[in-house]
Amino acid sequence: MKKRSELQEKDLQYIFHPCAQMKDFEENPPLVIQKGEGLYLIDEEGKRYMDCISSWWVNLFGHANRRINQVVMEQINNLEHVIFASFSHKPAIDLAEALVEVLPKGINKFLFADNGSSCIEMALKLSFQYHLQTGNPQKMKFISLENAYHGETIGALGVGDVDIFTQTYRPLIKEGRKVRVPYLDSRKSEEEFQKYEEECIQELRDLIESSHHEIACMIVEPMVQGAAGMLMYSANYLRQVRELTKKYNIHLIDDEIAMGFGRTGKMFACEHAGITPDIMCLAKGLSSGYYPIALVCITTDIFNAFYADYKEGKSFLHSHTYSGNPLGCRIAVEVLKIFKEENILAMVQEKGAYLQAKMEELFEGKDYVKSYRRIGMIGAIEIHEIPGQERVGRKIAALALEKGVLIRPIGNIVYFMPPYIITKEEINTMLQVCKESIEEYLKATKN
Ligand SMILES: *Cc1c(COP(=O)(O)O)cnc(C)c1O
Repeated sequence: MKKRSELQEKDLQYIFHPCAQMKDFEENPPLVIQKGEGLYLIDEEGKRYMDCISSWWVNLFGHANRRINQVVMEQINNLEHVIFASFSHKPAIDLAEALVEVLPKGINKFLFADNGSSCIEMALKLSFQYHLQTGNPQKMKFISLENAYHGETIGALGVGDVDIFTQTYRPLIKEGRKVRVPYLDSRKSEEEFQKYEEECIQELRDLIESSHHEIACMIVEPMVQGAAGMLMYSANYLRQVRELTKKYNIHLIDDEIAMGFGRTGKMFACEHAGITPDIMCLAKGLSSGYYPIALVCITTDIFNAFYADYKEGKSFLHSHTYSGNPLGCRIAVEVLKIFKEENILAMVQEKGAYLQAKMEELFEGKDYVKSYRRIGMIGAIEIHEIPGQERVGRKIAALALEKGVLIRPIGNIVYFMPPYIITKEEINTMLQVCKESIEEYLKATKN
């Protein structure tokens, strides 16, 4: 076992890390990162790692990005923060204006939050209160998808369906209705898939037709369920969800927290289905990994349900102290400018196609691969179960990290979601290391 550095010792003395069993760190303590540089993270000893998960799906344009650093410096010298309850500032206004240009038509009002989970809470509360204030107080239930992930606050867990996060807290959670999802699966024939998709749509139709009077909203991760293991489903299903929810006065909440801002090759993943949701949640890539900022984006129709004389009690009294922070807003404005001026979406599509071709070259037909999938700048490789072996992905990811490539495990899956600035040579290295790590692990388990 490698000797721990002084900072690692102190880290373990004081810090309780997220999404981890602290005891696991006895074996591999957290890496102390000293510097970020484009695609790379650099540790205490100067070792470089390719950040192929964009530091938890947030970084789009690389660490220490020159353009963003510049605007942070300017903004911080001007105004670092101001209460947003009854004050405003140009960065927030510019951000709203720039977003209206790129969001689906009809989404044009914005509420500000500081993380993804809290904007999910806001979306659910908004939907419930909308119905309460428009003559449908009985509409108070939520529908969500099987294997969904929408964050880990108590409300968000109610519409989530990833057991490791939910299980312990069930007694505290107000559980929503979950419906099946038609996952894309290359092992199914066209005919089999259509049958499966139609079953899923029918199940949703039955649920909505029988209980729409008590359903406020349906929430989805569009096209890809990230935390479930980058599971991908059909655009047609999403279109059907939109049609059914619209027909029965049920809000469609589109959680673009992970998939927004180009991840799937479109600015927002709902564009694959050509739909306009009622509510959209944005975070993560919104600030390209620089600042905790999140937005709930709504239609004028929803906004109007809250617009009344104060004494009518229709206000939306939900606030977060750091709502509308000017630094976060200014960064997000720059992110949108970079998209436009540097033609980022075309770049993601081109590199995505390259990623696809390379994945096929390296993983097609390999007996250890159960399935692999890709959309935009997201890829996942699922390894067959190995009898007697647990947390397989985790062990593979640890090997990859030793080789200088940061990928993440989910069960038997390893995935990558690199910043868009990754080069084709770096894509080659990422995939090659991924493959070597899998094969090295398999060889070790055989001996
Ligand atoms: C990350 C994520 C969230 C939660 O966002 P936090 O900022 O981590 O609270 C919600 N939904 C999806 C789809 C996410 O990927």
